[in-house]
Amino acid sequence: MIVTTGGYVTKNCNLWKGVVEMGIKGREIVDMDVNGLVNLLNKALADEWLAYYQYWIGARVVKGPMRGAVVVELEEHAGDELRHAGMLVDRIMQLGGTPILKPEDWYKLTNCGYDAPEDPSIESILKQNIKGEQCAIDAYNNLLKLTMHKDLITYNIILEIVRDEVEHEDDLQTLLDDLEMH
Ligand code: FE
Ligand code: FE
Ligand code: MG
Repeated sequence: MIVTTGGYVTKNCNLWKGVVEMGIKGREIVDMDVNGLVNLLNKALADEWLAYYQYWIGARVVKGPMRGAVVVELEEHAGDELRHAGMLVDRIMQLGGTPILKPEDWYKLTNCGYDAPEDPSIESILKQNIKGEQCAIDAYNNLLKLTMHKDLITYNIILEIVRDEVEHEDDLQTLLDDLEMH
């Protein structure tokens, strides 16, 4: 089926019945290529799932001094990443897109990749996750620039997410600084 969105003609996936009836005006106000935007949101979705697992498994294998405090932080961040994944899926659906349906696509679409916590030391796990957060901040900052003045709904969702990522990076850096002072 064909849906026109703000001057762009978008071919929608047949999988989603009722896409024409649902949210037509909501998509009309998006002043950019919706398919391109959905693809970028799916790339972010892949990052969130990989980040979620990296934190979740990291919290279970991590070893060393101050372990308790680090586990609490890693688990909290894992929960945030999973919530971000849900926010992205909701927006992708509103835009008439198809969210990633197969885990194998996480690796195909990711911006930031996945760092396996093969070295379970606190220092190594913190550094891996700081690197991941820095990549996420860059990727989301690019999305902010792209959607600013074009799609304020997506812009606001991304702004809310990147605020968390900035906090995540800072929290991990604080833990790493504490560790290095010991
Ligand atoms: Fe996130
Ligand atoms: Fe994060
Ligand atoms: Mg935190």
